[in-house]
Amino acid sequence: MSVLEEAQKIAKEFEISDECLNDCVDHFIWATEHGLRHHTDLGMPMIPTFVTKIPTGKEKGVFLASDLGGTNFRVCSVTLNGDSTYSLNQEKSSVPKELMVGSCKDFFDYLASQVEAFLRKHHGEHFVEDDGVSKAPFGDPFKMGFTFSFPVDQTSLNKGKLIRWTKGFDIKDAVGKDIVEEFQAALHSRKLPVHVAALVNDTVGTLMSRSYTKAESGRTLVGCIFGTGTNGAYSEKIKTIPKFDAAAHPEITDKIMVINTEWGSFDNRLNHIPNTRFDTALNERTPNPGYHMFEKRISGMFLGELLRLVLVELRDKGVLFKGLSATKKALDTEWSLDTSVPSRIDGDQSSDLSQTAKVVEDFLGYSSVPKEELEAIKLLAHAIGRRSATLSAVPLAGLILHTNALEKFEGEIDIGADGSVVEFYPNFEKMVREALRKTRLGTEGEKRVTIGLARDGSGVGAALCALVA
Ligand code: ADP
Ligand code: MG
Repeated sequence: MSVLEEAQKIAKEFEISDECLNDCVDHFIWATEHGLRHHTDLGMPMIPTFVTKIPTGKEKGVFLASDLGGTNFRVCSVTLNGDSTYSLNQEKSSVPKELMVGSCKDFFDYLASQVEAFLRKHHGEHFVEDDGVSKAPFGDPFKMGFTFSFPVDQTSLNKGKLIRWTKGFDIKDAVGKDIVEEFQAALHSRKLPVHVAALVNDTVGTLMSRSYTKAESGRTLVGCIFGTGTNGAYSEKIKTIPKFDAAAHPEITDKIMVINTEWGSFDNRLNHIPNTRFDTALNERTPNPGYHMFEKRISGMFLGELLRLVLVELRDKGVLFKGLSATKKALDTEWSLDTSVPSRIDGDQSSDLSQTAKVVEDFLGYSSVPKEELEAIKLLAHAIGRRSATLSAVPLAGLILHTNALEKFEGEIDIGADGSVVEFYPNFEKMVREALRKTRLGTEGEKRVTIGLARDGSGVGAALCALVA
């Protein structure tokens, strides 16, 4: 077989039939309802977040927010103007790899050091001359919303124990600890005037911020992330969360509560979502094999590695990179490709595939790759991206159907989304919509869905959660 035929054969394995798609949606609805009833290890966690109000757009004040997403740590201060608008200062750093697998203390001290640097730069008024040389922090504490996008067992708005790491983190002595306590202790030891008032999942922040900015024109049903990982949040009446001990919180029984679904863990048993030998190989290389199996087919951390595994198979078969030698070891290095690689290849509009050739040269170190081989690579990148987008429609359709939103609400059903994959992967939303039309939503339902980027999701959303506190 030619390289193109080989690639087509593999691309087929990444296709999702309408039947499979709808089976996944049905199972997603079941898993949602199951997770609201039962605490589960392998199923969807459906975590109550203690956020009991969705913003109206009228909120006001200055708050700090920090966001640990997976790839970056951001610190920002947010001014909410009370009219659905805000302004924001922020600084971003990428978490050093060694700290992602080091000790809990070193890790939180790193986060605190970034908060300190931010405050010194943007809120110098909170520092006074100490010894004539250096400046020490002082003043009334800022309320901070801390966006921490890993599964935690939350017991109040600012208390939550880490259940497990995902997305390549593996700080063993942090598992089981209260994340806010650890962060607050690190901030205290630097004497910073910061009170961590809310522990926020990024999906919740996205839901909050989209609701704040969209308040004028409708309601936001779901906040979701397609970035390093994937996850989503929506709100549920407290009365319809059987596993939540409402009697222990009488002050909120009548309210709604935002639920962090942790949908990355949907169908960890692989009874419904598709599986290829590449998925199996990838899963074995992760620190959490058997968990977040849905996420491992969708999100930014994984799509580049999937492509690498596919290309390695074709190279080893002798049909790809025939007679060529590479100036880089990337093709044989695990996790060497991030999702910007399939993303840029899939987005290649040139007739001579010069963009694909450039990405292949820059990232894999192969030059003068024949056009047929470039075509094969592009086809495979597209197949992986398309499967990701198709699967991404499953939880969106699932939550719209679970909440009866099509019947319950008139007009548009809004989804706030954040993350580099939904923002930058070519035609991601278009492919999600194509899949939505094939579900029970149909063309009519899909038309009513709006998907909007909530760019500062975690910053503004976390500030809004701190305000609620
Ligand atoms: P986080 O999840 O840490 O908040 P992002 O939303 O920026 O951060 O997502 C980072 C992920 O996005 C990485 O895993 C990376 O593979 C992926 N990514 C980076 N650039 C692109 C791109 N151009 N297209 C698609 N995905 C990308
Ligand atoms: Mg993020």
